[in-house]
Amino acid sequence: MNTFFRLLLFLTIIVSLFELQTSKAQNNDILTATQLVSSDSIESYIQHLENYGTRYMIAPNRLEIAEWLQNKFKTLGVDSTRIDTFETYTVKESLGLDTTTVQYNVVATIPGSTNKKIIICGHYDSFSYGDPYHIAPGADDDASGIAACLESARVLSEINYFSEHTIEIIAFAAEELMNYGLGGYDIHAANAEANNDTIDLVIHNDMIGYNDGNRTLYVSNYPNCGTETMMIASICDTYTNLSRHLWPSNEGPYADRAFYNRGYKCVYLEENFSANPNYHQPTDLLKNIDVDYCAEVTKISIGGTMKYDMQDETTSISDISLKDIYFNIHPNPIVTYATIDYELEKSGYIEIAIYDLTGKKLKVLDKGFKMAGLNNISFYNTDFKGLYFIALNLDNKNNVVKKVIFNK
Ligand SMILES: [Zn+2]
Repeated sequence: MNTFFRLLLFLTIIVSLFELQTSKAQNNDILTATQLVSSDSIESYIQHLENYGTRYMIAPNRLEIAEWLQNKFKTLGVDSTRIDTFETYTVKESLGLDTTTVQYNVVATIPGSTNKKIIICGHYDSFSYGDPYHIAPGADDDASGIAACLESARVLSEINYFSEHTIEIIAFAAEELMNYGLGGYDIHAANAEANNDTIDLVIHNDMIGYNDGNRTLYVSNYPNCGTETMMIASICDTYTNLSRHLWPSNEGPYADRAFYNRGYKCVYLEENFSANPNYHQPTDLLKNIDVDYCAEVTKISIGGTMKYDMQDETTSISDISLKDIYFNIHPNPIVTYATIDYELEKSGYIEIAIYDLTGKKLKVLDKGFKMAGLNNISFYNTDFKGLYFIALNLDNKNNVVKKVIFNK
């Protein structure tokens, strides 16, 4: 081995070790982007949307609102925008509703080097008990989510983010009554499926403005979306000051079910909804939400999109860990013998296995039913040399993943 290759090997090991030490460290590009998120911008978007008085899907101002959104995306720097027009039939007896209306999804597209898509979305229509035709301010539900969409468009344009994925930022119409007809989400997801679109990730923002006093954010934990959920959770932990919780995995999906039910991976961000007294009320006003909190949540759409896009294409798992599960491998690097300690909040079926960097499972170290509390396993390494992942899988969901080096 010549000197050059010795040096290269040495540097590679140093870089690998450095990665181990900083696996939860901030990425400079993501940090820069998330720091550009402005509470003032968020506030101005929400104020404008609230000022319509109502954005009820049956009210006559819906095209005016859609056109404002389209122009706003343009002035924020996204050149490619469009309005997708569709008809939907809605019936709800308690509202005296039995009608077909024309509706407008607003789509802003940041082209990437491939047609694979990441969607950032929310809905711009609103609803309120009382007289929704005239009063449904919907500052939180869901002007807050639309504010996240607009601000994501502004920031990703400002940094000239060039992605592998095509990023679609969508303000959906007709969400509020979609249990009684097909809404904007259904129409878009159905078209995507019909076109064989590759949508790798949907980041859905619906009600992200109400701060319960603890800056609580709930991140959905839909079955089969574990990898995406944990990536988003790690962005939340690394780039925001929010108190992050995962939904129980048997909850939802909600408005994003149109995507989820077609097999697309979805993560839904939502405030501590049950604490918000203004839901679907005339009091859902800007003055009752916290724009700084909304700005923090917005960082997740931007950071999550960038993080997902930056992942090595072949790497289906990444080095992330959930707050909820303690998982420690020592020593690391591993020479011949190592111990893994992990703590479960509740009992369940686990599997711990070694994966290669492409996410291919190579060897199961332990599996079976484990009691809540601290557990550990030890193992001898006889097979592996180099960089691998070890992942813990709980009830086929919560992957906790750590990078390890085997120095056999
Ligand atoms: Zn909503």
